[in-house]
Amino acid sequence: MTSSSDIFGSHVLDLELMKKKLPKQTFHALKDAIEKRSKLGLTDADTIAHTIMEWALSKGVTHYTHWFQPMTGLTAQKHDAFFSFDSDMRPIERFSGSQLIQSEPDASSFPSGGMRTTFEARGYTAWDPSSPVFIFMNGEVPVLCIPSVFISYTGQALDKKTPLLRSIKVLDEAASEALKLLEGSETYVEATVGCEQEFFLVERAFFDRRPDLVMAGRTVQGCRPAKGQQMEDHYFGSIKDRVMAFAQDVEQRLYRLGVPCKTRHNEVAPHQFEMAPIFEPANLAADHNQLVMEVIKKAAKDHDMAALLHEKPFAEVNGSGKHLNWSMQTGDGRNLLEPGNQPHGNKLFLYFLTAVINAIHKRGDVLRSTIASAGNDHRLGANEAPPAIMSVFLGSHLTELLDKIESASQLSDQTVASIDLGLAELPHIMKDTTDRNRTSPFAFTGNKFEFRALGSNQSISMSAAVLNGAVAESIQEMNADLAKLDEVNEKELFQLLRRYIKRSKPVRFEGNNYSEAWEKEAEKRGLSNLKTTPEAYTVWDREEIRDFFISSGVLRADEIEARQMVSLEHYGKIINIEAGVLMRLIDNYILPPAFRYQTEIATSVDALKSAASHNSSEVLVGAAPFQVGYLENLTGGIVALLEARSALEKVLATVQDIEDEKEAAMVYAKQVRPCMDAARVQCDRLESLVDARQWGLPSYYELLFIM
Ligand code: ADP
Ligand code: MG
Repeated sequence: MTSSSDIFGSHVLDLELMKKKLPKQTFHALKDAIEKRSKLGLTDADTIAHTIMEWALSKGVTHYTHWFQPMTGLTAQKHDAFFSFDSDMRPIERFSGSQLIQSEPDASSFPSGGMRTTFEARGYTAWDPSSPVFIFMNGEVPVLCIPSVFISYTGQALDKKTPLLRSIKVLDEAASEALKLLEGSETYVEATVGCEQEFFLVERAFFDRRPDLVMAGRTVQGCRPAKGQQMEDHYFGSIKDRVMAFAQDVEQRLYRLGVPCKTRHNEVAPHQFEMAPIFEPANLAADHNQLVMEVIKKAAKDHDMAALLHEKPFAEVNGSGKHLNWSMQTGDGRNLLEPGNQPHGNKLFLYFLTAVINAIHKRGDVLRSTIASAGNDHRLGANEAPPAIMSVFLGSHLTELLDKIESASQLSDQTVASIDLGLAELPHIMKDTTDRNRTSPFAFTGNKFEFRALGSNQSISMSAAVLNGAVAESIQEMNADLAKLDEVNEKELFQLLRRYIKRSKPVRFEGNNYSEAWEKEAEKRGLSNLKTTPEAYTVWDREEIRDFFISSGVLRADEIEARQMVSLEHYGKIINIEAGVLMRLIDNYILPPAFRYQTEIATSVDALKSAASHNSSEVLVGAAPFQVGYLENLTGGIVALLEARSALEKVLATVQDIEDEKEAAMVYAKQVRPCMDAARVQCDRLESLVDARQWGLPSYYELLFIM
């Protein structure tokens, strides 16, 4: 087998390769387009397009597509052939600069939150040169993918990438301004991101026979098996051979696509796994995470398995999340959240650290809304994932240092020296993983923050965009204070930090985030606890949140409500599908075997009674009540399920008539979901009673333990 580094990036036309292939001038124009976000001239674009086509043709590619990320959270593509005719009607391959830069997919069937109806009905995709073009294999068929944004003719973002790109720009501006003020340096700053991705694998044959898994991505019914994850024998356990073959295949495919996969291991629940790459610039990391999810799904199929990326495919065992590791890095490769052992570097570290804490304190609510989804509603606050309360964990050492800065009213030289010393020790202390808190939604882990509450299925773009935007806003605020100082000396700087450290203190929490005590404490501190998706999105109605979106540049005024509507509508649709699937399962898969089994037991009871009366056997007479009891229990389950089903049907009928998306979403959360849960209890009860051979749906035992 060839080594990973040999194949790495072989399906990517990255900047290094561009440098070799392009004329010098064109290459510099491209580099400026990426780094300085300058516009590419059409002549340069033509040259670049031709180079891209030649490279793609050499790899057997016939078609290209703008690859973009509409608000569905998935990726979209529409293939065009290079094939064309020249002026003499001879067949040739052709790819122009304008085709590279822009394309017009039929956009009418992508969600826009009503934005496009008021303007042009069309949207267009535009090349994002900061993410290199790549070749994606659809089975044996290679297609050239051009990472793109998707916008309307008036420039409104119709996708997930555009807000992220905007936020990267504002963060760059704010952080490089800070560096100029603090140390007089001229550089750029980029957000770095590494995403840990969790997922489940199940046997394909079982998956195909579960309509709920196929259509809703999760089991809406399933009796808890005797063994779940209580033995704690799966986490970091030895990986099954078949899963290894799959994982290696996934990695090889991803290496070709230039995705730097690094770690893989078993997760807590049976058949649950995790993969993580080496971190990259945020935009690339977001694209790559989409590729990771796509490749995992495709490869699983090729290995006769199904990958479940849903946040909660199974009740009673852990669901799947995604950790967004985040930091900021300068053009010359310095990590701004790396506490160094030099006092100077530590001033920078403290400045940016304080800015992040302040950002979460101020914008935690919006950040929470970016992780809201029908799937993640099952996880957040369910003692397996962080709660819906946003807080920051720093570790005892750093907490002590910030407390020291906060409490010292007069910062003596001695205090300053001891803070410097404490910071110098930090890298060493942070390696010791005992000072870590697994229950925190937003934790400092040595030289980066880990935002741990994302759902496994979601695009990271909005979370990263809001995080970038919030930190940028916070840095700008601090920069303004900094600029007012006559000179930036140590004590002045500490006084400035002190104000922000004090102000943002309520968001810092070192204890157990899963505890009830924290819910109470958080409420006292004025932190929100927005438990469901529709509740999380109510914060988008607030004037100050709208101002934040607009002033941070993440969203334009006309995009805010549209996005809120798309998300809430999406939420409602998902629950509607789940409820529909559940009713189908009840009618076609659950009640039929229950009725048959009921008849069997009833027949058996009659037979037993008649045998008892004919034979006047005390044993037989005594047995009858037990069998009748079983029949009663089963019948009780059937009746309760019929009642629950009809309650669900009723509430679904009422929600159908609600026009307002916000109101409908709230009914889905507060009424439909509880009705589904109630029906599920009865489904699971029947599964536990009915003859397993008659039960048509693959059970949790098969899904979670057989592969
Ligand atoms: P941990 O032990 O905290 O989980 P790892 O080193 O295993 O840390 O990293 C977890 C993830 O965090 C990886 O995807 C890694 O690339 C990413 N990561 C590490 N450093 C940074 C950084 N400076 N910025 C963004 N992500 C980072
Ligand atoms: Mg981690």
